[in-house]
Formats: sequence, C-alpha cells, structure tokens
Amino acid sequence: MKKVLFSALTVVLVGCGAHQSKQIEDINPMEFAESITSKELKEHLYIFASDEFQGRETGEPGQKMAAEYLKKEYKALNIVSPIGGDDYYQEVPAAMFRGGVKDSENVLAYIPGSEKPNEILVISSHYDHVGMDDEGNIFNGADDDGSGTVAVLEIAEAFAKARKEGFTPKRSILFLNVTGEEKGLIGSKFYTDNPVFALAQTVADLNIDMIGRTDAAHKKNDNYVYLIGSDKLSSELHKLSEEVNAKYTKLDLDYTYNDENDPNRFYYRSDHYNFAKNNIPIIFYFNGVHADYHKISDTPDKIRYDLLEKRARLVFLTAWEIANRDERPFVDKPAPASN
Ligand SMILES: [Zn+2]
Repeated sequence: MKKVLFSALTVVLVGCGAHQSKQIEDINPMEFAESITSKELKEHLYIFASDEFQGRETGEPGQKMAAEYLKKEYKALNIVSPIGGDDYYQEVPAAMFRGGVKDSENVLAYIPGSEKPNEILVISSHYDHVGMDDEGNIFNGADDDGSGTVAVLEIAEAFAKARKEGFTPKRSILFLNVTGEEKGLIGSKFYTDNPVFALAQTVADLNIDMIGRTDAAHKKNDNYVYLIGSDKLSSELHKLSEEVNAKYTKLDLDYTYNDENDPNRFYYRSDHYNFAKNNIPIIFYFNGVHADYHKISDTPDKIRYDLLEKRARLVFLTAWEIANRDERPFVDKPAPASN
C-alpha cells in the first residue's frame, strides 16, 4: 500500500517537474510578440503625440510630461529602474546642450536577466521632438519618434508578459528612452558617456527612430523596413536579424541606406551611433523620410498601425534571440571612423 502511494506521488512530482522545466529555448516567442498590437500602439500614440505634450521639446514641460508617461507605464508593467527606487530618470544637464536648452532626462527601465544579468541588451528610441513654432503650432512627432517610443513600450510589455509566465530573458534588457536627439543625439551621447551598465557588457543596441510610416520608394510594396548598421560591426548580428525576420515577420529588409556611400548618412544620424562608435553592434530600424517629416503634419492619424505592429514585433523577436542565445553577438569588424 505504501509503495503504491509513493509511486503515485512520484508520477505527480515528475509530471509537475516536466511542466516547470519547459526551457526558454522551447518557447515560440511569437506567443509574446503577439501582445504587441496595433490597437495598443495606437492608444499609446494618440496620447504620446497629442497636443497635450506640446511637441516634447527637450527641457520643456511637454518633454517632462512625456517622461512621466513613460515612467508610469514601466511602473504599471512592474519593470524597475536600474537607477534605483522610484527614480527612472538619468538627468542630462543643460550644460550638455547649446542654445539655452534646460535640464532634461533620459528615461530608463530594465528587466534583469535570469542567467547573464551582467550582459545588457539596449532597446532605444528618442522621446523628444521639436516642440512648437512661434505661432504656437505643435509638432506632434507621431512618427518621429512617437512611433519608436510606443514600440519600445509594447516591446517592454511583451518581455514583461514572458517573465510573468516564467520566461525571463537570459540577458538583461535596458529600455532606454533618450532625450535631446533632435538637439544633436545628446541624450544617447550622455548615456554612453555615463553608462548605467558598463559599455563592455552592453551586447547590442536596437534603436528605433520612425517606423510608423511609408516612403515614396515603397508605394507598391509597403511590407518593408529599412535596416541600417546591422552588418557594420558583427556579421553574426546581421545573420541573426535576417533569420528572425525570415522565420517570423517576413518583412522586406531594405538595406539601401546601409550603403557607406549613401549621401543621407543615416548611420550617423540617430542614437544608435553613440553605441556603434563605442564598438557595440547596433541595428537601426527606420521607415525612411516622408512629406510630413519634421512638419506639424506628422500626426498620429497618418500612422500605419499595421506596419508599426509588424516592425515592433520584428524588434522584439530580434531582441528575444539576442537576449537568449548562448553567446553575445561577436564583433568581427572594426569600429566606424568618426563622422
Ligand atoms: Zn527621430
């Protein structure tokens, strides 16, 4: 009798153990990527790019409101600050800027890794924009870079959901919402000059700046995103990125602007560059420019939320792969020459 009981108990325990030992490698990350929805992106963006935030100019009240919004969202997701306690802000002092810009702040939140917490993957976007003109017209910056900012929030939510279900990423993820991009990539420069996590331990930066629109070159096929920089430092990162897209999102990855001879030089023109110049592999996700770029007409009604969803999912799935691989992306190419 006793023996039988013991066997029954063993079966229960083994069954239980098998359930709990489902490895992160066995997970299809689409399960979590699907929590990134056009509906939620739209809800966030209609607030984030509303007139209330006054164009989010660095150092101005609208930017502070935007920072508060981000902090509130991270807190709601139980994603902590790496700075400590309730302080999600890395102060970027006025002295960093030219032209009388006031003190500003980067907003930081992170998920500590389960196996390699000292290795950090950065997912970045800038949340500042250009404010208002003299007549009081507001630059809403829905695409630039409201789209990237709400994407980062939704990606954070997807990682939080995975963690809640027992699948914490192996490496730590830093959600880095930088300020002062429109003033000359200042927030990201300040972060990389004063990193919260050592740059040597920072394995990659996935930077999103404008992923909610389409450009003239893709009138016939809008299932695309421009990737810039993915192969510049790490062949492995480039390969990984291509594989993830081929497996899940199947977007046309357009490398037009990745060409070293492209006159736009986008590789040097958003926040990822401050990581790249420190020898950290990056990928820059971008939809190209359009007629509303840096105009008061860059409004949330013009965003393609279906594409924003798909592109944000690609960033999440790429991040998932980088965070959970055995090895960090190997740097096999020289750092870029300074611009
Ligand atoms: Zn931008």
